[in-house]
Amino acid sequence: MADTFKALVVTETDGKAAVAFKDLSLNDLPPGDVVVRVAYSGLNYKDGLVLNGNKGKVVRKFPMVPGIDLAGTVEESSSPLYRKGDVVAATGWGLSETEWGGYTQKARLKADWLVPLPPGIDVKRAMAIGTAGFTAMLAVMALEDARVKPGKLPVLVTGAAGGVGSVAVALLAKLGYSVTAATGRPDQQDYLRGLGASAFVDRAQLATAGRPLDKELYAGAVDTVGSQILATVLTQVARGGAVSTCGNAAGIDLPTSVLPFILRGVALLGIDSVFCPAERRREAWRRLAKDLPLDKLDAMTEVVPFGQLLDRSAQILKGHVRGRTVVDVNA
Ligand code: NDP
Repeated sequence: MADTFKALVVTETDGKAAVAFKDLSLNDLPPGDVVVRVAYSGLNYKDGLVLNGNKGKVVRKFPMVPGIDLAGTVEESSSPLYRKGDVVAATGWGLSETEWGGYTQKARLKADWLVPLPPGIDVKRAMAIGTAGFTAMLAVMALEDARVKPGKLPVLVTGAAGGVGSVAVALLAKLGYSVTAATGRPDQQDYLRGLGASAFVDRAQLATAGRPLDKELYAGAVDTVGSQILATVLTQVARGGAVSTCGNAAGIDLPTSVLPFILRGVALLGIDSVFCPAERRREAWRRLAKDLPLDKLDAMTEVVPFGQLLDRSAQILKGHVRGRTVVDVNA
Protein backbone atom coordinates (compact mmCIF):
# COMPACT_ATOMS: atom_id res chain seq x y z
CA MET A 1 0.00 0.00 0.00
CA ALA A 2 1.26 3.47 -0.93
CA ASP A 3 0.82 4.97 2.54
CA THR A 4 2.73 2.25 4.32
CA PHE A 5 6.49 2.00 4.60
CA LYS A 6 9.01 -0.57 5.75
CA ALA A 7 10.67 -0.46 9.17
CA LEU A 8 12.62 -2.85 11.33
CA VAL A 9 10.92 -3.37 14.70
CA VAL A 10 12.32 -4.90 17.90
CA THR A 11 9.79 -6.45 20.25
CA GLU A 12 10.30 -8.21 23.56
CA THR A 13 8.46 -11.24 24.89
CA ASP A 14 9.36 -12.85 28.23
CA GLY A 15 12.61 -10.89 28.34
CA LYS A 16 13.70 -12.08 24.86
CA ALA A 17 14.11 -9.54 22.05
CA ALA A 18 13.01 -10.35 18.48
CA VAL A 19 13.64 -8.32 15.32
CA ALA A 20 11.38 -8.28 12.23
CA PHE A 21 10.57 -6.09 9.22
CA LYS A 22 7.06 -4.61 9.44
CA ASP A 23 4.85 -2.35 7.32
CA LEU A 24 4.02 0.79 9.27
CA SER A 25 1.98 3.93 8.54
CA LEU A 26 2.49 7.50 9.74
CA ASN A 27 -0.12 6.85 12.44
CA ASP A 28 2.19 4.26 13.99
CA LEU A 29 5.04 6.76 14.45
CA PRO A 30 5.67 8.47 17.78
CA PRO A 31 4.81 12.17 18.24
CA GLY A 32 7.29 14.80 17.02
CA ASP A 33 7.40 17.94 14.92
CA VAL A 34 9.27 16.75 11.83
CA VAL A 35 8.59 13.81 9.51
CA VAL A 36 11.71 12.69 7.63
CA ARG A 37 11.75 10.52 4.51
CA VAL A 38 14.79 8.45 5.43
CA ALA A 39 17.32 7.77 2.68
CA TYR A 40 20.10 6.06 4.61
CA SER A 41 20.95 4.82 8.07
CA GLY A 42 24.21 3.32 9.26
CA LEU A 43 25.60 0.37 11.18
CA ASN A 44 27.44 1.07 14.42
CA TYR A 45 28.67 -1.29 17.12
CA LYS A 46 25.69 -0.31 19.28
CA ASP A 47 23.32 -1.27 16.45
CA GLY A 48 25.03 -4.66 16.36
CA LEU A 49 24.23 -5.13 20.05
CA VAL A 50 20.54 -4.30 19.49
CA LEU A 51 20.06 -6.45 16.39
CA ASN A 52 21.64 -9.46 18.06
CA GLY A 53 19.44 -9.96 21.11
CA ASN A 54 19.61 -6.45 22.59
CA LYS A 55 22.93 -7.24 24.26
CA GLY A 56 23.92 -4.63 26.80
CA LYS A 57 20.20 -3.75 27.13
CA VAL A 58 20.56 -0.80 24.77
CA VAL A 59 16.80 -0.77 23.97
CA ARG A 60 14.82 0.28 27.01
CA LYS A 61 11.35 0.72 25.48
CA PHE A 62 9.42 -1.73 23.27
CA PRO A 63 8.35 -1.91 20.52
CA MET A 64 11.39 -0.07 19.16
CA VAL A 65 12.53 0.92 15.69
CA PRO A 66 16.31 0.51 16.10
CA GLY A 67 19.12 2.35 14.30
CA ILE A 68 21.01 5.11 16.11
CA ASP A 69 21.49 7.20 12.93
CA LEU A 70 19.40 8.46 10.04
CA ALA A 71 19.65 10.93 7.17
CA GLY A 72 16.98 12.04 4.74
CA THR A 73 14.68 14.80 3.56
CA VAL A 74 12.08 16.65 5.59
CA GLU A 75 8.60 15.71 4.38
CA GLU A 76 6.48 17.62 6.93
CA SER A 77 7.47 20.08 9.63
CA SER A 78 5.54 22.02 12.26
CA SER A 79 8.82 23.46 13.56
CA PRO A 80 10.13 26.87 12.44
CA LEU A 81 13.61 25.26 12.29
CA TYR A 82 12.92 23.04 9.26
CA ARG A 83 10.96 23.16 6.03
CA LYS A 84 9.82 20.48 3.60
CA GLY A 85 12.76 19.54 1.40
CA ASP A 86 15.51 20.30 3.95
CA VAL A 87 18.22 17.66 4.08
CA VAL A 88 18.95 16.55 7.63
CA ALA A 89 20.58 13.91 9.81
CA ALA A 90 20.06 12.68 13.36
CA THR A 91 22.47 10.78 15.59
CA GLY A 92 22.13 9.86 19.25
CA TRP A 93 19.53 11.60 21.48
CA GLY A 94 18.41 8.16 22.64
CA LEU A 95 17.47 6.89 19.16
CA SER A 96 17.19 3.09 19.42
CA GLU A 97 17.29 3.34 23.23
CA THR A 98 14.20 5.26 24.31
CA GLU A 99 13.26 6.90 20.97
CA TRP A 100 12.49 5.30 17.60
CA GLY A 101 15.52 5.33 15.33
CA GLY A 102 16.68 5.13 11.73
CA TYR A 103 15.97 1.61 10.40
CA THR A 104 12.80 2.82 8.70
CA GLN A 105 11.76 4.53 5.51
CA LYS A 106 9.99 7.29 7.50
CA ALA A 107 10.60 8.74 10.94
CA ARG A 108 8.93 11.38 13.08
CA LEU A 109 11.33 13.21 15.40
CA LYS A 110 11.80 16.30 17.52
CA ALA A 111 13.31 19.14 15.50
CA ASP A 112 15.98 19.62 18.19
CA TRP A 113 17.45 16.21 17.41
CA LEU A 114 18.15 17.08 13.77
CA VAL A 115 21.16 18.77 12.22
CA PRO A 116 21.03 20.40 8.79
CA LEU A 117 23.71 18.82 6.62
CA PRO A 118 26.60 21.15 5.94
CA PRO A 119 27.43 21.91 2.28
CA GLY A 120 29.48 19.12 0.72
CA ILE A 121 27.93 16.35 2.81
CA ASP A 122 25.02 14.56 1.16
CA VAL A 123 22.72 12.03 2.84
CA LYS A 124 24.86 9.03 1.93
CA ARG A 125 28.08 10.58 3.18
CA ALA A 126 26.28 11.83 6.30
CA MET A 127 25.57 8.20 7.14
CA ALA A 128 29.06 7.12 6.13
CA ILE A 129 30.06 9.49 8.90
CA GLY A 130 27.15 8.59 11.24
CA THR A 131 27.53 8.31 14.99
CA ALA A 132 30.94 6.67 14.55
CA GLY A 133 32.42 9.51 12.49
CA PHE A 134 30.76 12.18 14.58
CA THR A 135 32.25 10.56 17.70
CA ALA A 136 35.69 10.44 16.08
CA MET A 137 35.40 14.18 15.38
CA LEU A 138 34.40 14.87 19.00
CA ALA A 139 37.36 12.77 20.17
CA VAL A 140 39.76 14.75 17.98
CA MET A 141 38.26 18.09 19.08
CA ALA A 142 38.74 17.01 22.72
CA LEU A 143 42.44 16.33 22.03
CA GLU A 144 42.76 19.75 20.39
CA ASP A 145 41.08 21.39 23.40
CA ALA A 146 43.63 19.60 25.60
CA ARG A 147 46.39 21.15 23.46
CA VAL A 148 47.62 17.92 21.90
CA LYS A 149 49.30 19.32 18.80
CA PRO A 150 50.88 17.76 15.73
CA GLY A 151 54.56 17.31 16.53
CA LYS A 152 57.34 14.79 16.99
CA LEU A 153 55.31 12.19 18.86
CA PRO A 154 52.44 10.41 17.10
CA VAL A 155 48.83 10.06 18.22
CA LEU A 156 47.63 6.47 18.70
CA VAL A 157 44.21 5.26 17.52
CA THR A 158 42.95 1.95 18.94
CA GLY A 159 40.35 -0.21 17.18
CA ALA A 160 41.73 1.59 14.16
CA ALA A 161 40.06 -0.49 11.43
CA GLY A 162 36.60 -0.03 12.98
CA GLY A 163 34.18 2.81 12.26
CA VAL A 164 35.26 5.35 14.88
CA GLY A 165 38.90 4.33 14.45
CA SER A 166 38.94 4.69 10.65
CA VAL A 167 37.46 8.21 10.74
CA ALA A 168 39.80 9.22 13.57
CA VAL A 169 42.83 8.04 11.57
CA ALA A 170 41.72 9.99 8.47
CA LEU A 171 40.93 13.16 10.45
CA LEU A 172 44.14 13.18 12.48
CA ALA A 173 46.30 12.55 9.40
CA LYS A 174 44.57 15.37 7.51
CA LEU A 175 45.16 17.70 10.47
CA GLY A 176 48.89 17.01 10.33
CA TYR A 177 49.29 14.53 13.19
CA SER A 178 51.50 11.52 12.71
CA VAL A 179 49.13 8.58 13.33
CA THR A 180 49.92 5.15 14.77
CA ALA A 181 47.13 2.62 14.32
CA ALA A 182 46.55 -0.19 16.82
CA THR A 183 44.69 -3.03 15.17
CA GLY A 184 44.06 -6.72 15.73
CA ARG A 185 43.88 -7.19 11.97
CA PRO A 186 47.36 -6.97 10.41
CA ASP A 187 45.76 -7.61 7.00
CA GLN A 188 44.17 -4.13 7.29
CA GLN A 189 47.49 -2.26 7.39
CA ASP A 190 47.33 -1.24 3.71
CA TYR A 191 43.81 0.05 4.24
CA LEU A 192 44.90 2.05 7.30
CA ARG A 193 47.97 3.37 5.51
CA GLY A 194 45.60 4.60 2.78
CA LEU A 195 43.67 6.54 5.42
CA GLY A 196 46.86 8.16 6.69
CA ALA A 197 48.39 5.88 9.36
CA SER A 198 52.17 5.77 9.23
CA ALA A 199 52.95 3.18 11.94
CA PHE A 200 51.21 0.16 13.45
CA VAL A 201 50.90 -1.64 16.77
CA ASP A 202 49.48 -5.12 17.17
CA ARG A 203 46.62 -4.77 19.61
CA ALA A 204 47.73 -7.98 21.41
CA GLN A 205 50.82 -6.06 22.54
CA LEU A 206 48.59 -3.59 24.38
CA ALA A 207 46.25 -6.22 25.83
CA THR A 208 48.49 -7.33 28.70
CA ALA A 209 49.46 -5.19 31.66
CA GLY A 210 52.97 -3.68 31.60
CA ARG A 211 54.66 -1.26 33.99
CA PRO A 212 52.55 1.43 35.70
CA LEU A 213 54.53 4.00 33.68
CA ASP A 214 56.07 2.94 30.41
CA LYS A 215 58.12 4.76 27.73
CA GLU A 216 56.49 7.99 26.56
CA LEU A 217 55.52 6.98 23.02
CA TYR A 218 52.46 9.07 22.16
CA ALA A 219 51.40 12.70 22.39
CA GLY A 220 47.83 11.50 22.79
CA ALA A 221 45.36 8.82 21.78
CA VAL A 222 41.82 8.15 20.59
CA ASP A 223 40.69 4.97 22.32
CA THR A 224 37.64 3.07 21.05
CA VAL A 225 38.09 -0.19 22.98
CA GLY A 226 38.62 0.44 26.72
CA SER A 227 39.71 -2.25 29.21
CA GLN A 228 43.39 -3.30 29.48
CA ILE A 229 44.23 -1.73 26.11
CA LEU A 230 43.21 1.74 27.32
CA ALA A 231 45.04 1.11 30.61
CA THR A 232 48.24 0.25 28.71
CA VAL A 233 47.87 3.25 26.41
CA LEU A 234 47.66 5.56 29.44
CA THR A 235 51.08 4.33 30.61
CA GLN A 236 52.60 5.22 27.20
CA VAL A 237 51.27 8.76 26.77
CA ALA A 238 53.86 11.50 27.19
CA ARG A 239 53.82 14.16 29.91
CA GLY A 240 50.93 16.62 29.45
CA GLY A 241 49.24 14.40 26.84
CA ALA A 242 45.61 13.35 26.65
CA VAL A 243 43.47 10.36 25.70
CA SER A 244 39.90 10.60 24.38
CA THR A 245 37.92 7.57 25.52
CA CYS A 246 34.75 6.72 23.67
CA GLY A 247 34.35 2.96 23.34
CA ASN A 248 34.28 -0.40 25.04
CA ALA A 249 34.76 -2.96 22.24
CA ALA A 250 37.31 -4.77 24.47
CA GLY A 251 35.37 -4.35 27.74
CA ILE A 252 34.01 -1.80 30.19
CA ASP A 253 36.67 -2.25 32.85
CA LEU A 254 39.70 0.02 33.22
CA PRO A 255 42.48 -1.60 35.26
CA THR A 256 44.70 1.46 35.56
CA SER A 257 46.62 3.26 38.33
CA VAL A 258 46.68 6.95 39.15
CA LEU A 259 50.33 7.30 38.08
CA PRO A 260 49.84 8.51 34.48
CA PHE A 261 47.53 11.22 35.84
CA ILE A 262 49.52 12.39 38.85
CA LEU A 263 53.09 11.92 37.60
CA ARG A 264 52.65 12.90 33.96
CA GLY A 265 49.53 15.06 34.05
CA VAL A 266 47.89 12.86 31.43
CA ALA A 267 44.21 13.72 30.91
CA LEU A 268 41.51 11.15 30.24
CA LEU A 269 38.73 12.80 28.24
CA GLY A 270 35.30 11.17 28.16
CA ILE A 271 33.35 11.40 24.89
CA ASP A 272 29.56 11.07 24.84
CA SER A 273 28.12 11.57 21.38
CA VAL A 274 24.54 10.73 22.36
CA PHE A 275 23.73 13.78 24.46
CA CYS A 276 26.38 16.08 23.03
CA PRO A 277 24.89 19.62 23.22
CA ALA A 278 23.44 21.07 19.99
CA GLU A 279 26.10 23.78 19.57
CA ARG A 280 29.05 21.36 19.87
CA ARG A 281 27.17 18.98 17.55
CA ARG A 282 26.84 21.59 14.80
CA GLU A 283 30.49 22.57 15.27
CA ALA A 284 31.54 18.91 14.89
CA TRP A 285 29.54 18.56 11.64
CA ARG A 286 31.10 21.79 10.33
CA ARG A 287 34.55 20.43 11.17
CA LEU A 288 33.76 17.10 9.49
CA ALA A 289 32.77 18.95 6.31
CA LYS A 290 36.07 20.86 6.46
CA ASP A 291 38.58 18.31 7.75
CA LEU A 292 37.45 14.84 6.68
CA PRO A 293 38.81 14.06 3.20
CA LEU A 294 35.86 12.76 1.17
CA ASP A 295 38.00 10.35 -0.86
CA LYS A 296 39.13 8.73 2.40
CA LEU A 297 35.53 8.63 3.67
CA ASP A 298 34.39 6.94 0.45
CA ALA A 299 37.28 4.46 0.68
CA MET A 300 36.19 3.33 4.14
CA THR A 301 32.46 3.02 3.28
CA GLU A 302 30.35 0.15 2.03
CA VAL A 303 26.63 0.53 1.23
CA VAL A 304 24.34 -2.43 1.95
CA PRO A 305 20.63 -2.85 1.21
CA PHE A 306 18.15 -2.94 4.10
CA GLY A 307 17.74 -6.71 3.66
CA GLN A 308 21.43 -7.38 4.41
CA LEU A 309 21.50 -5.39 7.62
CA LEU A 310 20.89 -8.29 10.00
CA ASP A 311 23.70 -10.40 8.51
CA ARG A 312 26.09 -7.48 8.65
CA SER A 313 25.16 -6.63 12.22
CA ALA A 314 26.34 -10.02 13.47
CA GLN A 315 29.71 -9.38 11.78
CA ILE A 316 30.28 -6.04 13.50
CA LEU A 317 30.10 -7.68 16.94
CA LYS A 318 32.81 -10.13 15.85
CA GLY A 319 35.05 -7.22 14.84
CA HIS A 320 34.87 -8.32 11.19
CA VAL A 321 33.42 -5.13 9.70
CA ARG A 322 35.93 -2.65 8.35
CA GLY A 323 35.33 1.11 8.38
CA ARG A 324 31.75 2.28 7.93
CA THR A 325 28.63 0.52 6.69
CA VAL A 326 25.80 2.62 5.26
CA VAL A 327 22.32 1.07 5.09
CA ASP A 328 20.14 1.96 2.09
CA VAL A 329 16.68 1.62 3.64
CA ASN A 330 14.99 1.90 0.24
CA ALA A 331 16.94 -0.89 -1.51
P1 NDP B 1 33.45 -1.14 15.20
O1 NDP B 1 33.00 -2.51 15.52
O2 NDP B 1 33.32 -0.61 13.84
O3 NDP B 1 34.99 -0.98 15.63
C1 NDP B 1 35.50 -1.48 16.82
C2 NDP B 1 36.92 -1.95 16.57
O4 NDP B 1 37.48 -2.33 17.83
C3 NDP B 1 37.02 -3.19 15.71
O5 NDP B 1 37.01 -2.91 14.34
C4 NDP B 1 38.37 -3.72 16.15
O6 NDP B 1 39.38 -2.96 15.51
C5 NDP B 1 38.39 -3.39 17.63
N1 NDP B 1 37.95 -4.51 18.48
C6 NDP B 1 36.86 -5.30 18.30
N2 NDP B 1 36.77 -6.22 19.27
C7 NDP B 1 37.84 -6.00 20.07
C8 NDP B 1 38.32 -6.64 21.25
N3 NDP B 1 37.69 -7.67 21.80
N4 NDP B 1 39.46 -6.18 21.80
C9 NDP B 1 40.10 -5.12 21.27
N5 NDP B 1 39.70 -4.48 20.16
C10 NDP B 1 38.58 -4.91 19.57
O7 NDP B 1 32.70 -0.20 16.25
P2 NDP B 1 32.55 1.40 16.22
O8 NDP B 1 33.77 1.97 15.63
O9 NDP B 1 31.20 1.74 15.71
O10 NDP B 1 32.54 1.71 17.78
C11 NDP B 1 33.73 1.53 18.54
C12 NDP B 1 33.39 1.64 20.02
O11 NDP B 1 33.00 2.98 20.32
C13 NDP B 1 32.23 0.75 20.47
O12 NDP B 1 32.50 0.26 21.76
C14 NDP B 1 31.05 1.70 20.48
O13 NDP B 1 30.03 1.27 21.34
C15 NDP B 1 31.73 2.97 20.97
N6 NDP B 1 31.04 4.20 20.58
C16 NDP B 1 30.83 5.14 21.56
C17 NDP B 1 30.26 6.33 21.28
C18 NDP B 1 30.14 7.37 22.33
O14 NDP B 1 29.33 8.29 22.19
N7 NDP B 1 30.90 7.28 23.39
C19 NDP B 1 29.73 6.61 19.92
C20 NDP B 1 30.13 5.62 18.94
C21 NDP B 1 30.72 4.44 19.29
P3 NDP B 1 40.72 -3.63 14.91
O15 NDP B 1 40.25 -4.78 14.09
O16 NDP B 1 41.37 -2.54 14.14
O17 NDP B 1 41.54 -4.07 16.10
